[in-house]
Amino acid sequence: MTEYAEVIVDLSSEQVDRLFTYRVPEGMKLAPGQRVEVPFRTKSLEGFVIELRETTELDEKIIRPVLRVLEDYPAILPELVELAQWMKGKYHCNLVDGLRQMIPSQMRGGRVREKTVDVARLAVPAEEAEAALAADRRAPKRQEALRALIEGPKPVPFLNAIAPGAVKKLAQMGLAVIESSEVRRTPYAALTGSAAPDPELMPGQKAAVQRISQALDENGGRFLLHGVTGSGKTEVYIRVIRRAMAMGRGAIILVPEISLTPQMVDWFRRRFGGDAAVLHSRLSAGERFDEWKRIRSGEAKVVIGARSAVFAPLEKIGVIIVDEEHESSYISDKRPRYDARDIARWRCDHHGAALILGSATPSISTYMKAMPGVKPANRLELIEMNERVQGRALPEVEIVDMRAELVRGNRSIFSAALADALKDCLESGHQAILFINRRGYSTFVSCRACGYVERCDQCDVSMTYHQADGMLHCHYCGDMRLPPKICPKCGSKFIRYFGAGTQKVEEEVARLFPQARVSRMDIDTTGAKDAHEKILGAFRRGETQVLVGTQMIAKGLDFPNVTLVGVVAADLSLHVPDYRSVERTFQLITQVAGRAGRAEYPGRVVLQTYDPDHYGIQLAAKQDYRAFYFREEKMRRRGLYPPFTVLARLLVSSKSEDTARTVAKALEGRMNGLLDAHPDWRRDVVQMRALEAPLKLLRGEARWQVFIKMYARECADEVVSQMELLERQAFEGARVELEVNPNAML
Ligand code: ADP
Ligand code: ZN
Ligand code: ZN
Repeated sequence: MTEYAEVIVDLSSEQVDRLFTYRVPEGMKLAPGQRVEVPFRTKSLEGFVIELRETTELDEKIIRPVLRVLEDYPAILPELVELAQWMKGKYHCNLVDGLRQMIPSQMRGGRVREKTVDVARLAVPAEEAEAALAADRRAPKRQEALRALIEGPKPVPFLNAIAPGAVKKLAQMGLAVIESSEVRRTPYAALTGSAAPDPELMPGQKAAVQRISQALDENGGRFLLHGVTGSGKTEVYIRVIRRAMAMGRGAIILVPEISLTPQMVDWFRRRFGGDAAVLHSRLSAGERFDEWKRIRSGEAKVVIGARSAVFAPLEKIGVIIVDEEHESSYISDKRPRYDARDIARWRCDHHGAALILGSATPSISTYMKAMPGVKPANRLELIEMNERVQGRALPEVEIVDMRAELVRGNRSIFSAALADALKDCLESGHQAILFINRRGYSTFVSCRACGYVERCDQCDVSMTYHQADGMLHCHYCGDMRLPPKICPKCGSKFIRYFGAGTQKVEEEVARLFPQARVSRMDIDTTGAKDAHEKILGAFRRGETQVLVGTQMIAKGLDFPNVTLVGVVAADLSLHVPDYRSVERTFQLITQVAGRAGRAEYPGRVVLQTYDPDHYGIQLAAKQDYRAFYFREEKMRRRGLYPPFTVLARLLVSSKSEDTARTVAKALEGRMNGLLDAHPDWRRDVVQMRALEAPLKLLRGEARWQVFIKMYARECADEVVSQMELLERQAFEGARVELEVNPNAML
């Protein structure tokens, strides 16, 4: 009985996005999901076995054999093959693009493998070895090595533990064997703390755990866990995971950003020990592969990780948790542009598992799904936790009008109120967090005399001054140059630096409080592998008193000694040209304010703004999510913004402005043709046109776009599908990218 393997080759191209048939050679054992090497045209390629068949309609003579099996187990579970097929339909990608998400990328091409060390163990029973020991008194090294082998409970690492020469000799004498053994590279080894006991749950937590546990028994459910900052959501996750594990099922918990992971990992390690595995992009290739293997082999049942951990190869899932579900990092920025929340939902349906989206500030579109009137297929059940644990109060928020500060002659970046609060905080031995959502020193460099602004040559943006290297940086393309001493346009010497970033805030704190130790956390200070952990660790241990940072520090962190949070410029994110700018501002302020007063000391928040009456600022200060939701929902409905509409664009980039425009116009023509052919689509389109992108130059490329706004009804999906097809066509001298409700349309 000959067997045939239907294989997807590991080559992302529409032309080969189909099954190829290979013969399974005699004696080779294969299962669906296994990776193999196959001949392809004149080369050999890696591929994924999708199906095995006993017969084929193809001519036996032209079928080539599978060359080799890459792993002796299926790297891809049957469920995940199915998921890749679903992704192909939903995201219009090739099947292999989905399959590639399911394994550590370095497994492809054999760039990572199990790490092994040589170990030695006894080859004979201990008594026999004892006898040999007694008989052989001349070689003390050999005696010592043999003693170690007799006493060591397990195989002994060969090279570093025992004299290698002596062990070799013992092996020749037939007393020992040397063999290679797999070892695991464990990320965050240093963090493995002592096991922590379970605290008693608060009533709100208990109710949440009960409701979700019930769903676990009843084949799943979908929940939005809306809990104010400090309400103890993590503890709810932990108890639900326990429950799932008691049922013999695993769990995935997704966290948005890598800076959050050390603390989460630490918590989970303490509670779940070796059952917990970590998956994220900052791990070395070897660490990631080892963690993945621990999950694949069933050794680790609780997976913590960033977006891509949603594909973790767990065979039985009880719950998937998406913490801080409002974070934009859950949407992939590379093709396939999947939303981890959709993948989580698919997997939960498949496993009859519970899906928990958790946040103190859910995204507007998620919260809407928990409101009455939603189709059952999309519904989320709302669970609320409105109290902080142990009756702690939410922090007091004070809004400071920075225009009034200017009138009073205070030109510094700190208001009198913030400077005083900082002084009190430091004098009482507590810690402070200062948040400003902009890195660098000054936002832009400009001439006082003529208004000239130093801009990037490659991008249509102003350059940011960085004090660390004294250079101007472009935050879009990374280009750097020396700042001008005299104005290149009018020759004036009145070059001034405007706006503040993290570096300037750090410097100002150091100037006002020379004894205080300040650290800064932004992209510029967190390049190295363990940088986040170092900065946060020092802050946790009290070695630093003030932490200055961008949005990296806004969420999830839990430092008991922090009593003051200063939001240095609350409106920075308010004026981004994006329909979500108010939502994002509200989230940032609420989240960062929530870092204060999480233990026994009450917290205080000082919020500096030039726009104190804005509803986003006002409601964030009150930390009133529900009021904000209803207000924002009304604005979106009136302004025809998502989730009531879908915004999409085909973004065209080209070295030549002419080409970019021509291609955009051509695409607009194609879209119009489609809409003319489908009057029902046309009816749902609010607006469509080709125009220059707001950021018209990026990395030296001109940018045009075909922008479209549609009512969020079924037709919108059809139109987006058509745009995906247009995106995949090749245009001479231009790149086309589709974006649907992107984070910002720059
Ligand atoms: P959230 O994610 O909702 O902002 P966390 O999960 O970070 O809140 O919890 C806030 C703090 O309260 C943490 O330090 C946590 O250890 C603690 N905590 C949570 N639940 C309890 C409880 N039942 N009893 C005592 N402390 C708790
Ligand atoms: Zn000038
Ligand atoms: Zn640039």
